[in-house]
Amino acid sequence: MSTTKHLDEDLLKKLECPVCLEYMLSPITLCENGHNICSNCRSRVSACPSCSGRFLPVRNRALEDIAQTAKYPCKNREGGCNEIFSMDDKIEHESKCLYEKRMCPFTKLSGGSCSWAGVLSDVATHVRHDHGCQTQNSMGIFVVKLETLCASKHYMQAVFALGKLFFIVWEIKECNIHFAVFHAGSKNGAEEFTYKLSIKMHNEKISMRAICHSYLQETPTVLQPGECIVLHHGAVLKYLSKSSDLSCEIKIRRCSDSSVFRSLSKWFEEQGPPPSNRQTTALMSATKGPVQLPDNSPQPSTVQLP
Ligand SMILES: [Zn+2]
Ligand SMILES: [Zn+2]
Ligand SMILES: [Zn+2]
Ligand SMILES: [Zn+2]
Repeated sequence: MSTTKHLDEDLLKKLECPVCLEYMLSPITLCENGHNICSNCRSRVSACPSCSGRFLPVRNRALEDIAQTAKYPCKNREGGCNEIFSMDDKIEHESKCLYEKRMCPFTKLSGGSCSWAGVLSDVATHVRHDHGCQTQNSMGIFVVKLETLCASKHYMQAVFALGKLFFIVWEIKECNIHFAVFHAGSKNGAEEFTYKLSIKMHNEKISMRAICHSYLQETPTVLQPGECIVLHHGAVLKYLSKSSDLSCEIKIRRCSDSSVFRSLSKWFEEQGPPPSNRQTTALMSATKGPVQLPDNSPQPSTVQLP
C-alpha cells in the first residue's frame, strides 16, 4: 500500500494555491507572469497575489492534468493517517477516516452541548466516562415504553450491548416515526449487527429487522424511508389510547451472515413476502414506507406492506 513516504512533496507544494493554501483543482487560472490560482480565490481577487499582475483568460491545463493524477495525503495526516489517494478517493476516504476528529454523539445525534471531539476509537470511552448516567447497559435487549416514543419528537438513547456502543434514535416527522440503531464504529463494523424492533400488545406482535447504521453516516440520510424502520405515528397513537403499557423491544444482535440477510432484505423489498407468509406478523426488512400497525381485532394481525 502506498503511504505518505511515497508522496512527491515538491509537487504537492506547487499544487498549493498561494492564497488559500488548498490544493488547486480544475480550473486553475494563470496570471500574465505564469503564477497560478485556484478557482475559488480567482473570483475573490482582482490581481495576482504573487506579482500584482493581471490574470489571463486562460487555464493552466498542464498543471490541471498533473493535479488530476497526483497523489495526496489524507487531511488527517498530522493526526496519524498515512494513506495517500487521488483527489477523488481522498474525499471519499476522509468521510470515513479513522483519524478524523468526531463530535460527541450526544451533540451529533441529540443536539447536546458536550464539546468533546476525538477519533472514532475513543468515542465509547468518552461516552462511558462522561455520559455514564445517560447510558444503559444491556445484554442486547432494550425496552422502550411507547408513551415515551410518542411524547418526544426526537429521542436518542446510548446503550452498551454485546461489548459495543450503540445509539437508538427515533424521530417523528411527516406523521411517521423513523427509527434506527447506530453503531459507534465504521460502516463495515456496523453491518455486523442487526436490530429487531418488536411491538407487542395482547396477542399481537409486529417485528421488523434491519442492519445497524454507522455513527459516521449522516443522521438525516439514515432517518429516511428505505433506510430505517418507519412506523405510522397515527397508528401508534391509536394503539396507545387502548393500552397504556405498550412497549417496544429492541434486540441488537451480531448477524451470523449479514450478506444473506442483505440479499433477503432486498428480495422482500422487491417482491413482498411470499404468499404463505402474508398472514405473518414478522417483517424481515427495512421498510420502504410506513408500516401500518394492525387493528385490535381477533383476527391474526397482518402487516400491510406499503
Ligand atoms: Zn485558493
Ligand atoms: Zn503573478
Ligand atoms: Zn485518513
Ligand atoms: Zn460528550
